[in-house]
Amino acid sequence: MATRKAAFIYSTELERYAYPPEHPFNVDRARKVRELLKSMGLLSGDGRSEVAPRPAERIVLKKFHSARYLHALKTASEGKWDAEAMDMGIGTGDCPVFRGLYEYAVLASGGTVVGAELILSGDAEAAFNPSGGFHHAGPERASGFCYINDVALGCIVLAEQKKRVLYLDVDVHHGDGVAYAFYKRRDVMTISFHENPRVLFPGTGFEDEIGSGEGKGYCVNVPLPVGTYDEAYMKAFEAIALPLIGAFNPDVFVLQLGADALAGDPLAHLYLTNNVYVEVINHLLDFDRPILATGGGGYNIENTVRAWALAWTVLCGAYSEQEENLAVGGVMLGNTEWQGGLRDRRLAVNDQQHKTVMPAVEAVIGSVKAKVFAIHGL
Ligand SMILES: [Zn+2]
Repeated sequence: MATRKAAFIYSTELERYAYPPEHPFNVDRARKVRELLKSMGLLSGDGRSEVAPRPAERIVLKKFHSARYLHALKTASEGKWDAEAMDMGIGTGDCPVFRGLYEYAVLASGGTVVGAELILSGDAEAAFNPSGGFHHAGPERASGFCYINDVALGCIVLAEQKKRVLYLDVDVHHGDGVAYAFYKRRDVMTISFHENPRVLFPGTGFEDEIGSGEGKGYCVNVPLPVGTYDEAYMKAFEAIALPLIGAFNPDVFVLQLGADALAGDPLAHLYLTNNVYVEVINHLLDFDRPILATGGGGYNIENTVRAWALAWTVLCGAYSEQEENLAVGGVMLGNTEWQGGLRDRRLAVNDQQHKTVMPAVEAVIGSVKAKVFAIHGL
C-alpha cells in the first residue's frame, strides 16, 4: 500500500483543559491515541508528521458562528454566564461551563482548520485531528458536548477555495450541525450514517431530510436500527455512499470519525467493530482524494483510542494486514479484553439480529435511494 503525506494534529497544549470529571466527553482520548501511535513508531517517517493546532482565528470562527454566540462562549469561559447564554445551550448538562472552555474549543477546532489548510497547500494528503469532530454545534448553539463546529468550519474553508467537499459522518449521532450548515448548498454534500433518531440524540437525521432549494439531494441521512452490525452497515455504505460519492465527484473528503457506533459504547446501541472504519477509509482512499479526518464521539475510551489509532494507520498508508500484530507486539493497550492488535475481533451476530437488522437496513437503503439517487442521475 502506498504511503502518503499525512499530518497528525496534536499539541500538549490541549492537555491543559478538561470537561468536568462526571462528563462523558474525555479530551484525553487524543493524547492516548498519540501515545499509542508513537509507541508503534507511526507518527514519523514515510511522509508522516505531527502538526500543532493553532487556535481558530475569530475571522474563521465567524464564517459559521455568530458574534453574539462567540461573545457568550468567551464570557462563560471566564466564569460569567447568564440567561442569554443558557438560551444558546451554554451551561447545560450536555454543554457545561468549565474553565478554559473557550480556549479549548477554539484550539481543538483550530486543529481541523489547520488540517484543511495543509490539504489546500498540498502539504498533506491526509490530516487527522483526533481532538475535532464537534458536529452538533450550531451557528448560535452549543449542543451535544459541542461548542465550536470545527467540521463545518473545515468544510467552509475548503469550499471557499472552490473545492467540492464530501462530508462523511460515521459518528453514531446525526451530524446535524454540519448537515444544516450546508442544507441549501450543493458544493458541500453531507452524508451521515447514524443510529435511528427515534431512539437517539439529536432526534434528527431521517431519510426525508435531503436538503432544500439548490441543495436538494445533497444532504443524505442513513438512520440505522439498534443492533446494526458490520455486514449490515457496510451493505448500507456500499449501496448508498459509494454511488453518491462517485456521482458527486468530490475534490476532498471531510470525515467525522466518531467511534461511538462501536459495540459497547455506553451512550449508543449499534454493534460495530472497528473493522468497519478500515473498510470505510479504504473505500474513500480508492477515490484518490485528500482526506481531512477528525475524531468525534466515542465513550468507551479504550475502544475509541484503538479505533482512531487504526484509522490513522490506514489513512497514512502504514496499515499492513500481515504486520499488524507484529507492529503492536509488546504495546500495552490497557484493554483487558483484547491485546491482539488494533483491529477488533469479529463479533458474533445472533439470529435475532439477522432477522431484524438486515431487513430494516435494506428498507432504509431503498428509501434513501428513492429520495436522492435520481437527483444525481443514479
Ligand atoms: Zn456521537
